[in-house]
Amino acid sequence: MEQNNMNDFLDAYHNVMEWAALVFAVIALLIFLYHKIKVATIADLKARFDYVTENEIKTYKLVFYSLAVTVFSLINLYARSIQFDEIWFGVRAFIGFCVATLFGYVFNLILKFYYPSKLDIKLKRYRYTPRVNPKTGNKMRLLSEDEEDVHLDEGMQAEEEAFSVDYDVWYDEETGDVKIEKYPGHLTALQCNNCGFYTMKVIREEIVKQPTDTEEGELIKHYECNYCGSIRATQFHIASNEVIDHRDPHMLRFADQRLINSIRVEIIANDGHKKNYTFQNVEQAAKFLEEFDYEKVID
Ligand SMILES: [Zn+2]
Repeated sequence: MEQNNMNDFLDAYHNVMEWAALVFAVIALLIFLYHKIKVATIADLKARFDYVTENEIKTYKLVFYSLAVTVFSLINLYARSIQFDEIWFGVRAFIGFCVATLFGYVFNLILKFYYPSKLDIKLKRYRYTPRVNPKTGNKMRLLSEDEEDVHLDEGMQAEEEAFSVDYDVWYDEETGDVKIEKYPGHLTALQCNNCGFYTMKVIREEIVKQPTDTEEGELIKHYECNYCGSIRATQFHIASNEVIDHRDPHMLRFADQRLINSIRVEIIANDGHKKNYTFQNVEQAAKFLEEFDYEKVID
């Protein structure tokens, strides 16, 4: 009689395990499909970048945790036809628990340390795929660091200067329309020289030398690897406060010279005297500044 009761219990237990294996496999599949469809339907690549950055690893974790439950259930269905035996039942449940935990743990590690480098490639593709101007349908061009400053306000430039964010400026050559996108500078991890994972992040930045009007400053970024704990420090130059380096005509680059009608240079002397000069193009202005000598033009 007792043995019969236990066999009924075992039947019910196996039924639950069958359902759990199926239901959690379906849940995993649904979560995965929902994510894929959601990502595919976000047309704006910047919005897609943000969504994937925020959600992809979290979502995949849920998928693998659900699959871990499926794994546990499947192991608990192993050799289901035999008679109930406490030790057999207990050992099987314990092994199921261990294997499922290991499964969840291994995929958690993969998502934490290996997957970010794969994700990085995908995110770069979203970030650097040429944007399309919604008004004209024209393909836009990503401006270089030198070119983009014209389009960024002072706050944005200061933010970039402090390395906490990156602004991408997309430019429509035909209409001059601009699309500005903001990306986190710190959050993107670099590859660690020691372990090779993409887990190197900036933990601290210090300015060791403030830039002056004429001299470059120095900034040291301290990195630490989340995986192996190795530490790196790298030195960066901070551009001098001088807006345009007039000694070097190549520095006088503008977003698109065709859009420039004329250039006006105002020179202000220490005594408050001002002089204005107008030029037709950047080269003329650069040449003028190169040869400029205040003593010679003073009244
Ligand atoms: Zn490392």
